[in-house]
Amino acid sequence: MPPFDYSPPPYDGPSADEIMAKRKEFLSPSLFHFYKKPLHVVAGKRQYLFDEEGRRYVDAFGGIATVCCGHCHPDVVDAIVNQTKRLQHSTVLYLNSAIADFAEALASKLPGDLKVVFFTNSGTEANELAIMMAKLYTGCHDIISLRNGYHGNAAGTMGATGQSIWKFNVVQSGVHHAMNPDPYRGVFGSQGEMYAKDVQDLIDFGTSGNVAAFISEAIQGVGGIVELAPGYLPAVYGSIKKAGGLCIADEVQSGFARTGSHFWGFETQGVVPDIVTMAKSIGNGIPLGAVVTTPQIAEVLTRRNYFNTFGGNPVCTAAGLAVLKVIEKENLQENALAVGSYLKDRLLVLKDKYEIIGDVRGRGLMLGVELVTDRQLKTPAKAEILHVLGQMKELGVLIGKGGFYGNVFRITPPLCFTKEDADFLVDSMDYIMSKM
Ligand code: PLP
Repeated sequence: MPPFDYSPPPYDGPSADEIMAKRKEFLSPSLFHFYKKPLHVVAGKRQYLFDEEGRRYVDAFGGIATVCCGHCHPDVVDAIVNQTKRLQHSTVLYLNSAIADFAEALASKLPGDLKVVFFTNSGTEANELAIMMAKLYTGCHDIISLRNGYHGNAAGTMGATGQSIWKFNVVQSGVHHAMNPDPYRGVFGSQGEMYAKDVQDLIDFGTSGNVAAFISEAIQGVGGIVELAPGYLPAVYGSIKKAGGLCIADEVQSGFARTGSHFWGFETQGVVPDIVTMAKSIGNGIPLGAVVTTPQIAEVLTRRNYFNTFGGNPVCTAAGLAVLKVIEKENLQENALAVGSYLKDRLLVLKDKYEIIGDVRGRGLMLGVELVTDRQLKTPAKAEILHVLGQMKELGVLIGKGGFYGNVFRITPPLCFTKEDADFLVDSMDYIMSKM
């Protein structure tokens, strides 16, 4: 990895208090409850963020599993700047190489006939489109998704999402939510095939026997880094195909080498989906998403005019192409595997030391640590996690939190995370837990 300057960049902009005052008055209050006093981030360098006083933080959340190459990676920044100077905006109405080159590069990362790309502006939009394509292709309306899954915040995706905390009850879902194949909390433990029977039951008893699609993450991110029980997806994909439906892999968090062992999350279960959706890492934090499918399925979009203004913006797709090159050039997938395995091993040692750690899970640099006040009952340690989270920030480590009960640490740093960063994270957690 090329050396870079770790020192904090100078900052002489407005203070945190000034920004806070504007935020309170002018910004929508959504998610304001997360942090009473949010960190004022003024700059980012690879896996580090800096506050207004020049304090450095290890960004172990990676944005929200978004910044795969690291903050402000020079190759990505150069690609954005160069493209912005040449042509800042174009749409699919015209020919433009930034869009075409990235589509080709993306298709080359996918198996089988998955080669037709539609660019979107977010993960939500990608999943909305995927669901609509499945409905158009099959002529069916029934969608099956997982309890505890997260797929976005618009009508279709909010319906597919399987957590009440992310749903407004004005949205009619029409989605069947299957039992979650959660090895830690699920009734069948790690027996993927047992949970898969529930999907067959939903098809048999809750639909006409035909469905439009099954949509799921391979490792649930927002849901608290739940890796689906082994053997689950092959069995479910079999049932869905028999019911005439399409299988949609939501790779918004688990894609782009994050698992370390594979480039895509679905590959960890050895399946090939019909439609793959992606966002977050695809542009290293630049607003970009995509749906990739087969030519046969993509054909449904010719039935009407289907278009978006910003999808495939050349600045975003130039960033996307640079991201793919950086992942390869800097062996980020291999690094995610090596550092992720090291980090997971160290977290497992911590689990043996502290009763409050109920589970350590995930793969690569997509890891979860679930805190419980009672290991037997798996009682979520909701207050305790907030304490550890706050203390971690004080020590200079930013970490995510999620899961239905909000008691799971989500560790999804940039893929350039080092063993030293991993040590710093675990040592900080160890120190805080030793004082509890
Ligand atoms: N799908 C998954 C798995 C996600 O984690 C998210 C966001 O967290 C989305 C979809 C929605 O993506 P976006 O927030 O870009 O709309």
